[in-house]
Amino acid sequence: MFCPLPTAHCPLPTATMTVTVRLDPERPSVEAIKRAAAIIRGGGLVAFPTETVYGLGADATDEKAVRRVFEAKERPADNPLIVHVNSSEMLARVAERVSERAVQLIDSFWPGPLTLVLVRKPEVAQSVSAGLATVAVRMPQNRIALELIEQSDTPIAAPSANLSGRPSPTTAEHVAHDLGGRIEMILDGGPTIVGIESTVLDMTSDPPVILRPGWITEQSLAAVIGPVSCSITEKQLERSPGTRHRHYSPRARVVLIESGSPDFIQSFCAGQLKGGRVAFLGHTPLGIDSTDFEAIILENSARAYARSIYAALRELDEKSPRVIVVEAIGERGEGAAVMDRLRRAAVQRIRE
Ligand code: AMP
Ligand code: MG
Repeated sequence: MFCPLPTAHCPLPTATMTVTVRLDPERPSVEAIKRAAAIIRGGGLVAFPTETVYGLGADATDEKAVRRVFEAKERPADNPLIVHVNSSEMLARVAERVSERAVQLIDSFWPGPLTLVLVRKPEVAQSVSAGLATVAVRMPQNRIALELIEQSDTPIAAPSANLSGRPSPTTAEHVAHDLGGRIEMILDGGPTIVGIESTVLDMTSDPPVILRPGWITEQSLAAVIGPVSCSITEKQLERSPGTRHRHYSPRARVVLIESGSPDFIQSFCAGQLKGGRVAFLGHTPLGIDSTDFEAIILENSARAYARSIYAALRELDEKSPRVIVVEAIGERGEGAAVMDRLRRAAVQRIRE
């Protein structure tokens, strides 16, 4: 029996010794990659860096191994995984009827942070697709990830390597914090470069639909294949169950200030301070001087926010604030993906 969440019948995964190996991201040790690949081939779990966030990898053709990914992350069974490949040949092992438009996108954006939802082949373990007839596939732009897939000689199913619902991991330390004792190995390649998850594009709809915004924007996709849709219908939501779950949340309540002047944000934080510790993540220095106030100030750009939001949310959460107040950034271009993640992390959104 497979239970997505621990219950009396399905307790937490049994303890596993987790080995962390530090690697040079440009010239990873072949020996270490071979060790990790042997774990994948043996049905084990290896966390590895990609350009987006760290992934928790298992052999995508091994049903038992894939179920362990869901158990380790405590991920709901209805939330399908992305399969990572390193070549067109490997893509052909997991997906069929790859359209001309899909090939154009692959030529333009792979390796890179674009996931394509395609028709799945039966070789892919059932639980990867959570019962759907489709499979989500991408080729990551990270040498460690690509060499791990190469040496494993199998497509690797890999969701973000965090506990379900928590902020995604952008360092090996984040992975160890959430999954230490539950997985066999962590390949530490340093902080990830993009910092937020891939764009997910459903190629089985016409026009293709963006199921999850990401670093590859609607405009960049449209420049290659013509119009893509951003409005997800109820039916498409059913086909991308992951977008229904609350995500990326630290333990503290996150309040997102969608728009507000520096004065408004400052007085909002000052008001919150009357109820206990307050953390602030934004691009406007507030000048609040209190031992109960912590702030992380980022540059006002999508790139800076994407790279740092998950690590910053984790770091602020360590100070046990009652609330984390987050300042929005502009929605244009890559900002849309950042705002998508912040809205999912927030329990409350306010405007001045
Ligand atoms: P994560 O692996 O945590 O980055 O999440 C993967 C995302 O891809 C989730 O939002 C899933 O719902 C989505 N996804 C994966 N496979 C499919 C699929 N076959 N059809 C639609 N969405 C998918
Ligand atoms: Mg995730």
